[in-house]
Amino acid sequence: MSLRYSALVLGAALALTPASHAQAHAVSGQAILKLTQQYVDTAPKRYIGSPGHAAAEGFIKAHFAPEVAKGNFIDDRFTARTPIGPLMMHNLIVKFPGKRDGIIVLASHYETNYWLKDIHFIGANDGACTTALLIALGQYYREHPPQGYSVWLLFTDGEESINKEWTDSDSLYGSRHIAAKWSGDGTIGHIKAFVLADMIGWRDMNIDKESNSTPWLLDLLSKAGRDTGHSKYLFRESQPIDDDHLPFLQRGVPVLDVIDFEYGTPSNPEAFHHTDQDTMDKLSATSLQVSADLFLDLVKLINQR
Ligand SMILES: [Zn+2]
Repeated sequence: MSLRYSALVLGAALALTPASHAQAHAVSGQAILKLTQQYVDTAPKRYIGSPGHAAAEGFIKAHFAPEVAKGNFIDDRFTARTPIGPLMMHNLIVKFPGKRDGIIVLASHYETNYWLKDIHFIGANDGACTTALLIALGQYYREHPPQGYSVWLLFTDGEESINKEWTDSDSLYGSRHIAAKWSGDGTIGHIKAFVLADMIGWRDMNIDKESNSTPWLLDLLSKAGRDTGHSKYLFRESQPIDDDHLPFLQRGVPVLDVIDFEYGTPSNPEAFHHTDQDTMDKLSATSLQVSADLFLDLVKLINQR
């Protein structure tokens, strides 16, 4: 993911809302943190073509055995043209059928950057924790099948650029591929919302008002913050970010990027981003709890709209 413009800091006047609806947490932040640890232990470096990349796919697939058995797990393989030549990539899709016509896609990238292959970059916040979040949400929807729109999990490959410099043609390989494929087969017309999770496990997380996102979905995220008592974790900053939601936005799908781009220290707000400091100790169960609560509420609100 890449930031193209400087941040506009918003006033925090509406940031604090008390938790008005105390609720049991349907998905546990602690469980997501544990799953993240297991994921980075299994697949610490997950750049395309590496053994860790294959291990990452194996880890995800192993957590969806019932969906594999039902034919609701899809391995979307494709060959991407990259600056270093053709590379085999895989998006992984898990379907939880609902009762109404329409699909809510929840997405995260699962790989790490090819250009960081020579350092110990594990992407704890950048890719790993949101992969774990999606797995945990899948476990919830297995136990509580969607009563409204279908929920599809999309684990994208090749979100990161191959070269260090991010360009439109060297980035978002998986999302560009699947958006084109779903355009071709008509699936895209059934997608009610595409909701992306990226970098939302950091202990100092504050989710951006990502300004490429569709306004009504930003409004629902704000409402989800109020519903869950998590408004103080939202919208301290507003900025447009290039991420996996863009190929869907370009095809007219309502999109939301749930992301906190800042990931560092007060003097260097991006100190941990794309460095060997993106490690497990930066994450917190509380932030992952907030993220899970927001995602579950968003799905509910999209259905009520
Ligand atoms: Zn990244």
